[in-house]
Amino acid sequence: MKVITLHDGRDRSLLRRHPWVFESSIANGRADSGETVRVQARDGRFLAWAAYSPASMIRLRAWSFVEAERIDDAFFARRIARAIAARAALQIDSDGLRLIHGEADGLPGLVVDRYGDTLCAQITSAAAERWKGVIATELLEASGAARLYERSDASVRGLEGLPARTGWIAGDGDTQVTIREHGWRLNVDVATGHKTGFYLDQRDNRRSFKETVRQFGFKRVLNCFCYTGGFSIAALAGGATDVTSVDSSGSALALADAHVALNGFDPAHHRTLDADVNRTLREMVDRGERFDAIVLDPPKFAPSAAHAERAARAYKDINRLAFGLLRPGGALFTFSCSGGIGPELFHKIVAGAGIDAGIDAAILQRLQEPADHPGTLLFPEGQYLKGLALLVR
Ligand code: SAH
Repeated sequence: MKVITLHDGRDRSLLRRHPWVFESSIANGRADSGETVRVQARDGRFLAWAAYSPASMIRLRAWSFVEAERIDDAFFARRIARAIAARAALQIDSDGLRLIHGEADGLPGLVVDRYGDTLCAQITSAAAERWKGVIATELLEASGAARLYERSDASVRGLEGLPARTGWIAGDGDTQVTIREHGWRLNVDVATGHKTGFYLDQRDNRRSFKETVRQFGFKRVLNCFCYTGGFSIAALAGGATDVTSVDSSGSALALADAHVALNGFDPAHHRTLDADVNRTLREMVDRGERFDAIVLDPPKFAPSAAHAERAARAYKDINRLAFGLLRPGGALFTFSCSGGIGPELFHKIVAGAGIDAGIDAAILQRLQEPADHPGTLLFPEGQYLKGLALLVR
């Protein structure tokens, strides 16, 4: 077993059982990509068993902080079984859910989503890549799923020196699966959809949106960055009769229209706009349009804290424009999935947009990702989604 020794004082993060060690903390030792190493302090004290990643700034990802634990097939079987059992206990109202949420489930660089009988895995660390075969076997065994598709095409794989790979690991056939969420039917394509196919992280917030639309009797709804129309279906289910879905992806919009039909809603109640959201919002403000409720669920404007400032301006712009389109008493569901922007900063940005738009709003609810996408006490980075459900005064 190879040994990696850390510089003096650089053991703090592992002592707090945070799984990452950066390149600059390593005093000596090296290993192959994904190889298990013993990490120790300068004085030889055991700190963790970890996977080495020679190409990455995150040079080590800890598997275990228990010296007696062995990193072998049984280790992965235990971690995977624990994660899947934790989801079963949540009794999630959908057969689309996250089974493994990376570091938060003790499996750095591994994300696995379940869509009905099909699993879709995304591997973004040399650590998980090395154990892929074992992980695949254990996933199928513990979940009872029939098929496993790999979507290891996230750009962060490049940082680990790993090439992209997509395709079936187990099973084959149609990559489109229909899931059931809050009684709606939604199509997910594990090969071509975003991330592993769908934004499961917005599941609870789609239900909250439906309930708000129903509660306040909202009819005219604008869903910005709609992807395949999840929040639009929620609006229609809540009783909206005039829903506009905006996205710059034509193929996503086609799926949004298909979802309206699949769920038996009146197609006359829904229209799509293949356009840039920022531009669309400006044009709507110029035309003096008014909506009862608006959803803003943009892509990650700030991939890291370094991009936070520019991203803050972009978030502020769209929120200010949306406030200008809401009638008094209307609702804004506004989100950021940028890890580099925390909930407090996001609140500040949206408040700034409110000042510029000349409105105040009551906070109905603070929103985040559902419990199958956990952050943990020791790995808060697991939570990246933040949102505000606002009622404009
Ligand atoms: N709310 C969705 C997920 C949104 S993901 C859901 O519940 O499923 C973000 C979406 O924004 C993607 O579909 C992407 O195509 C779209 N997008 C990114 N930049 C855009 C822009 N400038 N204008 C319009 N759509 C954009």
